[in-house]
Amino acid sequence: MRVCGTCGLPSVIGRSMRWSSGGCIFARDVQNTRLVYIKTDEVNNILRGVSERIGMPLGRIAARAEVPLGRRLGKAYYAEYLSLMPGSRITRPAFLMKGYYERIFKVFSILGFGRLSLESYRPRRRIVVSMLKPYQPDLLCGLCRGFFEAAEGVAFGYEAAEDGSGALAAAFTAEEGVGAEGGDERFRYEEREHLPGNVEHRICGECGVPVRISQTFYWDEREGLIGNRKHHMREVVMPVEGLNALFRELKEELGEEVERMAADIQRSFKRDAYLQPDIRERHNYLALLRQQTVKGLGNFTLIEKRGERLRVEVENPFNAPLLAGRVAGYYEALEGVESRVEWEAPDPRRLSIEVAPA
Ligand SMILES: [Zn+2]
Repeated sequence: MRVCGTCGLPSVIGRSMRWSSGGCIFARDVQNTRLVYIKTDEVNNILRGVSERIGMPLGRIAARAEVPLGRRLGKAYYAEYLSLMPGSRITRPAFLMKGYYERIFKVFSILGFGRLSLESYRPRRRIVVSMLKPYQPDLLCGLCRGFFEAAEGVAFGYEAAEDGSGALAAAFTAEEGVGAEGGDERFRYEEREHLPGNVEHRICGECGVPVRISQTFYWDEREGLIGNRKHHMREVVMPVEGLNALFRELKEELGEEVERMAADIQRSFKRDAYLQPDIRERHNYLALLRQQTVKGLGNFTLIEKRGERLRVEVENPFNAPLLAGRVAGYYEALEGVESRVEWEAPDPRRLSIEVAPA
């Protein structure tokens, strides 16, 4: 793995991500596709928590919501790969395709997705992948399905099961007579506009990645893991639009209550994760939230504590209920009381959050 000579980060990070002044991280060359640094426990906890509360396993639907995002990213990566290949695009020898997927899996490992390897490959028929420590099995299978559909030009179904050695074996099988562009309208990719903002990160002069990233995280690229230097919890650089499509659909089917649920689940997760000895001493919402901008959550434009009320405004929020829940969780950890959180998102680019004691 090539690393930056100055900050030591894997070089691919600077090549594949762009930090915007609006508090977002975008996948380079795939317009407006957002990424966030998020704890893997947090992602798993949200999906598990919502599943339990609505009494329905969310795994399959979460995977489906991820497919259009995977196709979109997959299309861009595949086009780039083809442009580097000599010779004809039409023949696509199997070894070149294997090389392509191995390359993609390397990028996945640097995003903290886990260690993926190609177990068997039959072009446009069947692809078996071994996934060691997937950051979230359903989301990862859905994303892979999208990547395979983009490159193979056919639609895939999949089955995934533990293979006995602790890895997940995921078998993707072509669905007869279904084109890769078919499938779920419900989870179509939704373009979002973003506000410009004026966030400035201190940037590594060599690779262009904010210095705070190398100060905050470490990489185990062989295992496909990202750890946080402070608390050593595992994190992942996750494309968020799949999760957002899932919540959009759940809200449509089950009503607004789903968002309240997600915020609640997130609130207690964040409270428990932040109940550490040093947190109350610092007691500084501004520092706490501003330092998170580099994770791509959005641009915190107002952080105001008046009496017991905390008001936070965010431009380009990555996800409204998850951010509202996060802020409420911090509040509970810092204040040592239970809270009530309200939020409003007049349009998807603006979010205002208010937290007060319950
Ligand atoms: Zn660097």
